[in-house]
Amino acid sequence: TVPEGNEFNGTFPEWACQRKAKLEHLNKKLTSAVEVLQEFAELRDSNQDYPRALAFRRASSVLKSLPFPVQSVEQLKGFKDIGEHVKTVISDILDHGSSSEVDDIEKSEWFKKMKLFTSVFGVGPSTAKVWIERGWESLEDAQKDGCPSGDWRIAWGLAFSKDLNTPVCRSEAIAFSRIVQREAEHILPGVITTLVGGFRRGKPEGHDVDILLSHPTDEAEIGLLPKLIAALGKRGLILIGHKEKNSFRSDILYQDFKLSTRGQLDHFEKWLGICKFPKSFSKSKDSESNSEVNQETSFTVPALEATSDSSLDESINDLYEPKAKKSKSSGAIDTEPQHVSAAPRDWLARRVDLIIAPISQYYYALVGWTGSKHFNRDARLYAQKKLGLKLTSHGLFDLQKREPLTAETEEEVFSHLKIPYIDPTDRNC
Ligand code: ATP
Ligand code: MN
Ligand code: MN
Repeated sequence: TVPEGNEFNGTFPEWACQRKAKLEHLNKKLTSAVEVLQEFAELRDSNQDYPRALAFRRASSVLKSLPFPVQSVEQLKGFKDIGEHVKTVISDILDHGSSSEVDDIEKSEWFKKMKLFTSVFGVGPSTAKVWIERGWESLEDAQKDGCPSGDWRIAWGLAFSKDLNTPVCRSEAIAFSRIVQREAEHILPGVITTLVGGFRRGKPEGHDVDILLSHPTDEAEIGLLPKLIAALGKRGLILIGHKEKNSFRSDILYQDFKLSTRGQLDHFEKWLGICKFPKSFSKSKDSESNSEVNQETSFTVPALEATSDSSLDESINDLYEPKAKKSKSSGAIDTEPQHVSAAPRDWLARRVDLIIAPISQYYYALVGWTGSKHFNRDARLYAQKKLGLKLTSHGLFDLQKREPLTAETEEEVFSHLKIPYIDPTDRNC
């Protein structure tokens, strides 16, 4: 039986952060079309506050949580997040198998170039637009220019664009997390290392590896990051990167109210960079990424525990053998990217984010860095509109009482927000 929109949507939670949204859902064809419209709006209106992009995002988020495949637009009656524009696109797809509006966008040269250029680390829509105005057609055109902007991310992002545009698979993320755990534990016993981002949401692949670090004793984490980067460098795992200092100030947090719902920048100490992953990290790709996706999605990396995959263990252990070759490029930071990328190599360049959070903010950081981006945006707006609270990756703040609501588990974050706990794998809205 096909559910009528009206009979169903009375019980449909209003906010995306209250709904379950799995990676695998029943309306993929529709959401991928709506997401093209969203992406197009995001790229085109990048100087604004993305109101149109957000409307598409909200619509696709509803479609992802529906417990039935949409077979007629009648079923979408009463869903306030699905407007007329999206309904037209959906009925085109239901009637003709595709939407001409979506097809036209995907075929357009501008869209293709914008997607190509913004796929480069450090290149946002405004830089991509400048590149298009210069008449550049390909990444080679940008490379020829020699990156006069002086942005290290763009220089290295261009030099390794082929590697970086090849999705990172789950086994690579797990192998790298274990090494980070091992090195961090050595520097700071008791450290908490958690693989966050898309992998924690159960994605089989991602564009980078996000790792959140903390310690049960407040302030014990201070000083960890530079030592960790040095240790990873000694193992030959660092290509290039930048540290950002902790810039958290509780007084500022009360003031910059807009930051949390619009942008996604936080004030944690972090390292954003490019690492060298031995090719052996992705050996067991098929066994690890396709089966049992849920088995290890939500894990805090156990200390020195063997993985379920012996070939992966071997490749990790290779890095720890006493005779392990000293990295030739521990000084890679002074090396020109072109020079490094031209040499034959047994590793892949991979984007890595390492974030340091004090334990007092850790569970909020965990939610914030698990995402999805839309989950965060929605949860922050919900907290503001429904509860008069300000949610960020640093905490939840009562703006009247001017005090934080502390959390000692992720569940507690949700209970402060008065929403039922949502598993990370259900936050793919
Ligand atoms: P992918 O698989 O493509 O990497 P992802 O969901 O992991 O997807 P990321 O861009 O790596 O996306 O971000 C991970 C999470 O951390 C997202 O939910 C995002 O909102 C949050 N995030 C990313 N960058 C920052 C930042 N600089 N400051 C605060 N939060 C961020
Ligand atoms: Mn990520
Ligand atoms: Mn990231």
